[in-house]
Amino acid sequence: MPGFELWSDAERKHVTDVIETGILMRYGFDGPRKGIWKAKELEQEICNTFGCHHAQLVSSGTAALTTALSALGIGYGDEVIMPAFTFVASFEAVISVGAVPVMVDVDDTLTLAPDAVKAAITSKTKCIMPVHMCGSMADMDALQSICREHKLILLEDACQAIGGSYKGKMLGTIGDAGTFSFDFVKTITCAEGGVVMTNREDVFVSSDGYSDHGHDHTGVDRGADLHPFIGYNFRISELHAAVGLAQIKRLDEFLTIQKKNNAALKNILATIPEISFRRVPDEAGDSGSFVSWFLPTAEITNAVVEEMKAQGILAGNFYWFNNNWHYIRKWDHLKNSITLNALSPELKEKVMHHANKDFSASDAVMSRCISTAISLTWTDEQIKDKGAKMVAVIKKVLSEMAVNA
Ligand SMILES: *Cc1c(COP(=O)(O)O)cnc(C)c1O
Repeated sequence: MPGFELWSDAERKHVTDVIETGILMRYGFDGPRKGIWKAKELEQEICNTFGCHHAQLVSSGTAALTTALSALGIGYGDEVIMPAFTFVASFEAVISVGAVPVMVDVDDTLTLAPDAVKAAITSKTKCIMPVHMCGSMADMDALQSICREHKLILLEDACQAIGGSYKGKMLGTIGDAGTFSFDFVKTITCAEGGVVMTNREDVFVSSDGYSDHGHDHTGVDRGADLHPFIGYNFRISELHAAVGLAQIKRLDEFLTIQKKNNAALKNILATIPEISFRRVPDEAGDSGSFVSWFLPTAEITNAVVEEMKAQGILAGNFYWFNNNWHYIRKWDHLKNSITLNALSPELKEKVMHHANKDFSASDAVMSRCISTAISLTWTDEQIKDKGAKMVAVIKKVLSEMAVNA
């Protein structure tokens, strides 16, 4: 999955370029920086690599979502439809701009179920936010057509899907805006960082200002910039951008290894007839960062997880159903709307309402799903060994449960 596994001289070199000038900030200091503009260069490289018109780097994926939501004009009273299976950052960003996260069910794509999205639309709905979880994509044709029909904004949380695509377009570049995270465990890392990608000039200009205290970046220097609106500081540093610049140039290398290792492990798991795999709307576009697989029942899945734990091979296998960070079931802080600062009573009530709905359709999917993270450093031998151990555990559990049934 992550680019940090293949840290190299390329990353060291770009960081050293910045350290040598000592200009660690992405804006200003035109003379002393001696032509080193890592953040600007990385933004250009993102546009070239992913095929979008504009890219605004920020300090994290969470900041990218917050910036994109603000730049898209989403705030008070607006409802944002998002999946019940995602990383907590997705709803954090929505709440931070004062909008209502409307969690809805996922299906066997592990992403938004289009019918659940349709059923959740109200007169307050402003945006649909698919999250391309675990390296692969939502059904974008279905979601785009819902957005067209209801005149809704489409914001892609592609933080986990760097390098994935849908029908020839890179994930994150299909909607009105899309975001990547470059945190330490993502496919490309900056250590910490994120980006807003968009083809809309207005969204880009707003993102550019919002992430830097509202600066319009049109003055002769920072002191002469105007502030057409209130922003925040979500800037990325040159040191972080330098790491990302090295990594993005290695993306093809990462993806080639990732897809190869993914296919090898998937082929081993596929020898078990009781296993099925996540439905991928466009197989060719799967970035391969995880193999996500299903067992026939929640009981079997739970027993397999317990047996993997007992045998010391659970690391890298994610049973999201029991996970604190990625699935609605354990988001008690959201269900109780526990914040440090007071939300408006209206928002608090709505947050709690939507977090406490019935997610049994998602439970039925997630309780049978295990996602195995794909490492870039595995050897062919290690994959065979890992696969064999997993198969042994699964077969053992399947035969024990059959006997007990
Ligand atoms: C990682 C991630 C984020 C947030 O990114 P950070 O850079 O860690 O803030 C948002 N959404 C999803 C789906 C993620 O996996």
